[in-house]
Amino acid sequence: MDLFEYQGKQLFARYGIPVSAGVVADTVDEAITGASSVGLPVVVKAQVLVGGRGKAGGVKLASTLDEVRTHAGNILGLYIKGHVVRRLWVEHASDIAAEYYASFTLDRAAKQYLGMLSAQGGVEIEQVTESIARLHIDPVAGLSEAACREWVAEAGLPAEAVPLLMKLYEVFVDGDADLVEINPLILLPSGAVHALDAKVTLDDNARFRHPEWDEFTGLEKLDPREREASAKGLQYVGLDGDVGVIANGAGLAMATCDIVHEVGGRPANFLDIGGGASAQVMANALEVINNDPSVKSIFINIFGGITKGEEVANGIVQALGQVDITSPIVIRLDGTNAVEGREILRSHESDRLVSKPTMVEAARKAVELAR
Ligand code: GDP
Ligand code: MN
Repeated sequence: MDLFEYQGKQLFARYGIPVSAGVVADTVDEAITGASSVGLPVVVKAQVLVGGRGKAGGVKLASTLDEVRTHAGNILGLYIKGHVVRRLWVEHASDIAAEYYASFTLDRAAKQYLGMLSAQGGVEIEQVTESIARLHIDPVAGLSEAACREWVAEAGLPAEAVPLLMKLYEVFVDGDADLVEINPLILLPSGAVHALDAKVTLDDNARFRHPEWDEFTGLEKLDPREREASAKGLQYVGLDGDVGVIANGAGLAMATCDIVHEVGGRPANFLDIGGGASAQVMANALEVINNDPSVKSIFINIFGGITKGEEVANGIVQALGQVDITSPIVIRLDGTNAVEGREILRSHESDRLVSKPTMVEAARKAVELAR
């Protein structure tokens, strides 16, 4: 789960990382009231889950309430990399003496944590990769203050950054994050360091021990289809086409979306029902797809592995008995016991339920039916 900047900063503040005073605003009036309460000058910042907001016009300094009104009005509703801005963060503006970069993430290949520091922050970090001081951290041993001090010196950051980075490491580990990033981490004219931006990705697998994360989910999923799918425990991403896609395994689901494109169609979604597709999971998936008014046909693409073809077929048949489907369905069933599975589907076939032996034939049929 990705956090908005303001949520990341709220999390940072709980761990004692210095951030600017600010307020959330969903309207121009709230932005003006907020600016008065935090004190001018302020920065008006778009809250979207993508970086590069500054370049896209989503971060503006305002030294008067009139400027707050103008910027808030311009930024609300702005599209940044396909994300519409519905919320602002208005914070007291900082004077910047220097901009740095700091992050902790997982290096899966090294089976260690990876800290990255650079004295050239503020810009996209990919542009200054040669300036990054990397620090691998044994997750069992943790980060010692001595190692942190050395790392900070190597990167050319002031020693004041050490306590902040120790706290950021704590957010990363105790907070069960996959990524914590501050870009820019700034040096104030006073010599203190301060987090001016916050990017946090929490590890969804740790959700069970963080009931407090519920507060973060407010604006995250605005697509009602995604909300419904998430409530049913499905891996679903809404897209804007008209061919509903159900597949088992993320790789196959992506390949299914690709092949729909390849034969001239547009997928309405990505949906991975995972391994061991039970009848109930299939019914849940069909229900989510069925509730999407833009879906004109449904493409079920299952490759039997541990789950045998006849179980998948029985699951589909049972699911069809549970959900009243409005769009025609095309099924491609392959893998373990595919022949037995197709045999079960055969007696249910009609012009509303078509079985095809290959992915490309099934994709063509599904796209044709969506026209
Ligand atoms: P991003 O573009 O999405 O990464 O958004 P940031 O929060 O990093 O802001 C972009 C840039 O705006 C920063 O790198 C700063 O240069 C500038 N900026 C943000 N807040 C302030 C502030 O309080 N004072 C000043 N002077 N500049 C700011
Ligand atoms: Mn930034």
